[in-house]
Amino acid sequence: MALIVHKYGGTSMGSTERIKNVAKRVAKWHDAGHQIVVVPSAMSGETNRIIGLAKEISAQPDPRELDMIASTGEQVSVGLLAIALQAIGKQAVSYAGWQVAIKTDSAHTKARIASIDEAKVKADLDAGKIVIITGFQGVDELGNITTLGRGGSDTSAVAVAAALKAQECLIYTDVDGVYTTDPRVVSDARRLNTVTFEEMLEMASLGSKVLQIRSVEFAGNYRMPTRVLSSLTDPLMPLEEEANSGTLISFEEDTHMEQATITGIAFNRDEAKITVLGVPDRPGIAYQILGPVADANIEVDMIIQNQSVEGKTDFTFTVPRGEYTKAMDVLESSVKAHIGAGSIVGDSKVSKVSVVGVGMRSHVGIASQMFRTLSEEGINIQMISTSEIKISVLIDEKYMELAVRSLHKAFGLESA
Ligand code: ADP
Ligand code: ASP
Ligand code: MG
Repeated sequence: MALIVHKYGGTSMGSTERIKNVAKRVAKWHDAGHQIVVVPSAMSGETNRIIGLAKEISAQPDPRELDMIASTGEQVSVGLLAIALQAIGKQAVSYAGWQVAIKTDSAHTKARIASIDEAKVKADLDAGKIVIITGFQGVDELGNITTLGRGGSDTSAVAVAAALKAQECLIYTDVDGVYTTDPRVVSDARRLNTVTFEEMLEMASLGSKVLQIRSVEFAGNYRMPTRVLSSLTDPLMPLEEEANSGTLISFEEDTHMEQATITGIAFNRDEAKITVLGVPDRPGIAYQILGPVADANIEVDMIIQNQSVEGKTDFTFTVPRGEYTKAMDVLESSVKAHIGAGSIVGDSKVSKVSVVGVGMRSHVGIASQMFRTLSEEGINIQMISTSEIKISVLIDEKYMELAVRSLHKAFGLESA
């Protein structure tokens, strides 16, 4: 008997039919003698619908109130799943984040989990119940409901698994594992049986939305075995087969010794680029530009400062597209005049494409192969950033899919 956490995403919970299938699958695991905690997302489209309602009323809704409503989708899901399990004769109980409690900081709409109180859940499990906990939501010190950022149910699930010292966290979704790239963009992308924790962290941080990055961080910090697998298979398929399907995030360093140099291609469509022109080249300038941006809680990603000419330089960086207007406002209002910059220009239609692989460490020439492939397609590279196991380029949004497809092919990632 093991304690196992199941997480079901929006598509997996997308209709009452699908929820009944989830109940059958969960019951099968419970019947096999396991203790099961389920962490579902809201039904697909629901979180967007709710946030859309708020935006119909205000362009910038109060984040606390946004969390109050955005968290309701998950509350519906847990209740429906408990009812579906009870309908097939299982004892099940659902909890909202605050009832557990899943405690977070107060950074509304992107809160971080601080602690999880596992006592109540453990008591229910020991009494033979299946416990269902809302994904995506928590509660801060003052009792306010918080949410963990879009895609945050992955993080709830892995954090719950870590707190309960579960044997494994199974992330059930609408694809049957982690692929060399998003199978919606490249139809012959290949499923990976295992992916190293480091690679998964890079892929998630570089835009592969199959797992929220914080869930991968939790998996790493607690060495929680985590597997991505399909919820769309027959819920009554043999448990052994299901338990070994999908993609396991591995903590072994050398599982890729025999494999390709590149593991996958990640991309993020929604980037924006800002350039501050004619900046005096003196100590402290990067801090004076980026300090106020960070104070506004805007995450900066790629950064370039050009060689200075006659004491002036240009400073370029990227931010998430959703924060572009806010970043431009901060620069225009509190930075430009202060540092004596010439002007500020931006482009909110850029995307980032990255090649990722631990194998890059021992192979040279990956960058040149990447740049050659893009040049053969006539794609201009605007910015480049590298780490030991990834190379990212910023390009015009309209070439993103072409870049992903041609790199996928150039690095031989397609399925046989
Ligand atoms: P859920 O609602 O279950 O959380 P998501 O939509 O958040 O599901 O994540 C699953 C989706 O992630 C897939 O449908 C797929 O389009 C996308 N995706 C992006 N990159 C990858 C990848 N490398 N491997 C698998 N899926 C990917
Ligand atoms: N329902 C939330 C969202 O749509 C959380 C999740 O699905 O993981 O972002
Ligand atoms: Mg998701």
